[in-house]
Amino acid sequence: MAPIAKALTIAGSDSGGGAGIQADLKTFQELGVYGMSALTAITAQNTLGVHGVFPVETAAVTAQLQAIGADLPPDALKTGMLFSHDRIQAVAEAIAYFKWKNVVVDPVMIAKSGAQLLQHQALSSLKSSLLPLAEAVTPNIPEAELLADQTIATMEDRKEACRRIAETSVRYVILKGGHASDDGPVIDLLFDGFDFYEMEGARIATRHTHGTGCTFSAAITAGLANGLDMQSAALQAKAFIQAAIQNGLNIGTGQGPTNHFA
Ligand code: PLP
Repeated sequence: MAPIAKALTIAGSDSGGGAGIQADLKTFQELGVYGMSALTAITAQNTLGVHGVFPVETAAVTAQLQAIGADLPPDALKTGMLFSHDRIQAVAEAIAYFKWKNVVVDPVMIAKSGAQLLQHQALSSLKSSLLPLAEAVTPNIPEAELLADQTIATMEDRKEACRRIAETSVRYVILKGGHASDDGPVIDLLFDGFDFYEMEGARIATRHTHGTGCTFSAAITAGLANGLDMQSAALQAKAFIQAAIQNGLNIGTGQGPTNHFA
């Protein structure tokens, strides 16, 4: 058997299969990497929204990470829903202990349906404990506003937010443009601490966008696990998510998921 790159997702479960761990593992599989997971929370969820959030004990988060670290070191990893200060600390400790590289933080805060996936008081832990260990952070515009503590209206505001977020010493900030209020193309910004690269794609009119953020950050993680540099991994992920939204699945009676089939 040929060797295969391994990628880890540390995130919440979406029982509906469209976001969270399920979206991440499907994306890893489609992009040719071996997927592993450490669960931080279980959500009772379908296309209509989040009906319950059940955090996994912090000790169980640590135990999953120790088991993986002792035997299956990941080539890259992503974090998604982390829910609380304690779980963020447990994840940061494992990343530092095992010296895991290629860490992508998707700063999941609020689901599109409005459910709180990160407690308010945990935002500062995310910034101070996790981002300094990360290679990239992938906020959408509302998340970037909270991380940078500013409002974002213009492209210059977006760039300023990237600069502020980079002060946490995360290496790359990838600010997604999908939440911009204009009707123009979606411009994602990649900031490497010095320069900005714009990744542009057509805006697709659809309501079946559940799990886009999870899928995008998982695709970047898969690219890094496969040895791509950050810019190439981000461009590959942009193409993957563009197709996933274009072919969004009209299943369930609410907001359907993006399509993870490559
Ligand atoms: N549920 C879980 C467990 C998640 O990790 C995420 C990720 O952001 C979401 C829901 C959010 O999904 P949505 O794309 O609908 O905001």
